[in-house]
Amino acid sequence: MKNFFDFLVSYSKRYGFIFPSNEIYGGINAVYDYGQYGVELKNNIKKYWWESMTQVHENIIGMDSSILTDINVWKASGHLKKFNELLIDNKDSKKRYRPDILIENYVKKNFSKNLEKKNKILSRLYYSLNKKDFLDIKKLINQLQISDPDNGSKNWTNIHFFNMMFKIKYIENLFLRPETAQNIYCNFNNIKKSNRINIPFGVAQIGKSFRNEIVARQFLFRLREFEQMEMQFFISPKKEEENKWYNYWKKMRLKWHLELNLGKDKYKLYNHQNLAHYANLGVDIQFKFPFGFKELEGIHSRRDFDLKQHEVFSKKKLRIVENKNNYRPYVIETSLGLDRMFLSVLSSTLSKEKLENGNDRIILKLPFYLSPVKAAIFPLVNKNELSKLAKKIFNDLKIEYKVEYDSKSSIGKLYRRQDAIGTPLCFTVDYETINTNTVTVRYRDSMKQERIHIKKISKKIEEITSMKNILKNISSNID
Ligand code: ATP
Repeated sequence: MKNFFDFLVSYSKRYGFIFPSNEIYGGINAVYDYGQYGVELKNNIKKYWWESMTQVHENIIGMDSSILTDINVWKASGHLKKFNELLIDNKDSKKRYRPDILIENYVKKNFSKNLEKKNKILSRLYYSLNKKDFLDIKKLINQLQISDPDNGSKNWTNIHFFNMMFKIKYIENLFLRPETAQNIYCNFNNIKKSNRINIPFGVAQIGKSFRNEIVARQFLFRLREFEQMEMQFFISPKKEEENKWYNYWKKMRLKWHLELNLGKDKYKLYNHQNLAHYANLGVDIQFKFPFGFKELEGIHSRRDFDLKQHEVFSKKKLRIVENKNNYRPYVIETSLGLDRMFLSVLSSTLSKEKLENGNDRIILKLPFYLSPVKAAIFPLVNKNELSKLAKKIFNDLKIEYKVEYDSKSSIGKLYRRQDAIGTPLCFTVDYETINTNTVTVRYRDSMKQERIHIKKISKKIEEITSMKNILKNISSNID
């Protein structure tokens, strides 16, 4: 797995998916850039999410709010006081760790078969976490003789709290947001007044969030600058409605992931024991990343926690008015990390295959509608009469689809490169094309080839790469 993970990281860079940010100056820890194919794949994932939310659900609208946020928003939301992680430093390695994760990993490694011992240690950890008894957590680390995974040192500092928000130093009272949801709550009255929408309704948003993560060593999984795709669904404030919509979104979000066909066995639901400070119910959709099952998306019932807090801090009413009644709606939130989603797709579709002739090919078996390039067009040989014709086909197609023209290597190498970036179809222009107006179409997964008429190319790309069918499947599951 370590080998695969290393392969994934170097592949991502070599093929223009992910670059370390500011690499020429040494790079920034846990910050990455998306290259030419990375940004296309990321945009296609966004499109799938955005259209599933705001197009397929007629009662979900979109918005795009600011990243810079007033301190009062975070006072109200509780993030200023409660968005903290525990932190412990190793004095010798100078590395920072989350003590709870150190203990959990230690237990997993040493007592996975001794359930009694495992549960005893973990219950003590969770009890002390709840009580904020950091001295006891430190004592536990010492008793278990947990050492730094990096250099084996047991020379630990005391444990302290660490707020994960980025404050902007030179501008008074502004923070970079650590989640996108709050500006939706702050805009509640604007949204209500500018729409004819009634509960239940949702507001969807895709945007950057920032967290000063302590342990950020797993490529795109834990970043300090990342993107979230979040949706807040406002419902009537009744327990039955809360259960109904919480279960609906749990089912719907899992369905959305399963439709990608990355493998049913790659997903697990995990019910939260330690809920976030704003949540009444919470479940994670976990994904089998190369380093194990980890959270991909969270679904929470936030009830009216946020609207209530913003009413107190802003002294403005944030309510639904119905006849003579007015009330604060409950909220079910779905929150998916776009970069984690990207990593889940990339890591589960990338592989090396042995070919019949003994060579390897790198292949990215992306769902076709997510592929960065939908089709590539080549001349069989780089001779003027063929390349002119291939270029004309490319120029006609580029208005409708993201396509590539390439003539810089032999046809075998051109196919290999497109396989490696996940292009579903390659069209080759050869001497027969001049007489018959047909080209060879070659399919990524089967490598099968057939001849089709030039006029049928566009339809073929549409048939294979359109997002329509998957959106139809999502639509057929709406209550
Ligand atoms: P974790 O427990 O892994 O830290 P979280 O429970 O803090 O995640 P949420 O606050 O529920 O995460 O955020 C919603 C989603 O945003 C997560 O499911 C994840 O996909 C994404 N996310 C959160 N933090 C990060 C991060 N540092 N880097 C990349 N994605 C993140």
